[in-house]
Amino acid sequence: MRVGIPREMKNYEYRVGLTPTSVRELVSAGHQVLVEKNAGKAIDFTDEQYRAAGASIAATPEEVFTHADMIIKVKEPQADECRMLRPEQVLFTYLHLAADSAQAQRLLESGAIGIAYETVTDDRGRLPLLAPMSEVAGRMSVQAGAHHLEKAQGGRGVLLGGVPGVAPGKVVILGGGVVGANAARVAVGLGASVTILDRSVDRLRELEQQFDGRVITLYATTSAIEEAVSHADLVIGAVLVPGASTPKLVTREMIGTMNPGSVVVDVAIDQGGCFETSKPTTHQQPTFVVDDVVHYCVSNMPGAVARTATQALNNVTLPFVLKLAESPVGALFQDANLRNGLNIHSGRVTHKGVADSLGYPY
Ligand code: NAD
Repeated sequence: MRVGIPREMKNYEYRVGLTPTSVRELVSAGHQVLVEKNAGKAIDFTDEQYRAAGASIAATPEEVFTHADMIIKVKEPQADECRMLRPEQVLFTYLHLAADSAQAQRLLESGAIGIAYETVTDDRGRLPLLAPMSEVAGRMSVQAGAHHLEKAQGGRGVLLGGVPGVAPGKVVILGGGVVGANAARVAVGLGASVTILDRSVDRLRELEQQFDGRVITLYATTSAIEEAVSHADLVIGAVLVPGASTPKLVTREMIGTMNPGSVVVDVAIDQGGCFETSKPTTHQQPTFVVDDVVHYCVSNMPGAVARTATQALNNVTLPFVLKLAESPVGALFQDANLRNGLNIHSGRVTHKGVADSLGYPY
């Protein structure tokens, strides 16, 4: 099959659909890969590396879309890209269609086959192509929080690890899933005092075991959240209720009880956020202050570490890319988890959740 990798068009998006390492795997399996010029340049995946892996370099996105049977991307296709898609061409990328009817309409009109990373499942019903981005955002959240706790960034002037003779900073993590566990890992590594609150006692048990007593686990009642937040230097919002917007676990009143210069990092902002005071921010202007508390609410945190994020994403997408390149129909037929990723086919929305959200027939 001819596989195409266009350069991402979206502003400030530096990730790329396939790394040179992944291209090499596809080429060894007998496929042709066409990569748009400079597609990975911003994160030091050069055209020379792609050529060495066996790819050809295309001068324009049009060339990639015209010649490829399957397009591998990272972000949802922009309007200009949708216009280049053609019937039966496979598009494998994050689509996030449920809240984007304009894009859904454009994809339906293109006749292309849209397979969305975010709805591919594993055998336990989890979302394996979302997990690496949660791992990245979770680990970054403590890094971002530690940075903004510095005085020059408007923070309280607290070093999370403390020093001999000075107590470490207090990190409170709301939600102990993938983001929360990864945040805890970095915070524990820095030597901070770490408390994780979750509504699942089973999950708290796992975390207690995983961290061998180095984190405090608490059942997430309003009283427990109120108490923990009021003493925290850094609060990380990492709650997810699948298919719903994030519950506002931290009210403005609770924010008002925090020490001036404390920091909140709302990783869950992409689903609405867990702080009443949150609003989405960007890497260009990541923070704002409410009641003397610094808020970091960047909705695409992994974009800041695009090279690591691209490699982590490729680790989980490559097995599916290889199967699809062999035979898209065969892969979708044989693999129910991949089939759950099918969002658009033959001008129809083929994922129930997406169809329901958009009000399309299923
Ligand atoms: P997850 O499903 O692995 O974990 C969510 C956790 O929240 C679960 O352990 C669940 O028990 C817990 N929870 C649910 N309701 C709760 C409540 N009322 N109180 C306390 N805990 C509760 O999800 P995840 O992969 O860790 O993702 C967390 C959030 O981070 C999601 O909204 C995800 O979209 C977001 N995210 C954002 C970025 C970003 O760049 N901002 C990147 C990756 C993920």
